[in-house]
Amino acid sequence: MMTLLYHIVMRKIRKYLNGQKFGKLTVVGLSVRRNHRICQCDCGNKTDVSISNLKDNHTTSCGCVARENLRIRSTTHGESKNSRLYRIWINIKDRCLRTTHKYYKYYGGRGINVCKEWENSYITFSQWARANGYRDNLQIDRINNNKGYSPQNCRWTSGKINCNNTRRNLNLTAWGTTQTLSEWVKDKRAIVSYDTIWLRIKRLGWKPEEALSTPKLKNQFDILKSKIVATTLLTSA
Ligand SMILES: [Zn+2]
Repeated sequence: MMTLLYHIVMRKIRKYLNGQKFGKLTVVGLSVRRNHRICQCDCGNKTDVSISNLKDNHTTSCGCVARENLRIRSTTHGESKNSRLYRIWINIKDRCLRTTHKYYKYYGGRGINVCKEWENSYITFSQWARANGYRDNLQIDRINNNKGYSPQNCRWTSGKINCNNTRRNLNLTAWGTTQTLSEWVKDKRAIVSYDTIWLRIKRLGWKPEEALSTPKLKNQFDILKSKIVATTLLTSA
């Protein structure tokens, strides 16, 4: 009789799993969730795990092991892949090389490339960056806007200088509103493409309102020629 009772009690205790260890987890109590147990991890955290996950070794820690592995994996050369500089490097390569990137046409699409040393190695890029005054508040800037990303053509600048120098961020004031050309393109009042607006403003010298709201003409260069002719006539008169 005593032996039978002992077995029943032991079976119950085993069923509760209290004190049993699974990897880094030790069962310390019942959970409010059915077939779950509260476990204490070796790292000190408490966690709620299903019995089946414990028994088939699916869950062996509170998650600290996975987090640590992720940290190790994402860290290369002592530098996190989540660092700002790393993202800058990825973005440069994307804009210049990935044809599906939304700004590809302003970079790779118009011949702006990345030098091979930078394209192939983040370390080379980050070494150049740090040796040339990289700070977390600075942006990479191409000195000559028509040349690519290379040590010879790049520097770190505050956003303000960069903005003035970047083709994409041409500021336009029309109808009393100032925004960048990229923003204007999304504005309902602008009815022609980015490149047309750019051409009209920069090459043809149109007023912003005209440049944004005049429907696209067949041949923009005819207009340019007629303007030159008009200017010549005016000057010679
Ligand atoms: Zn843990």
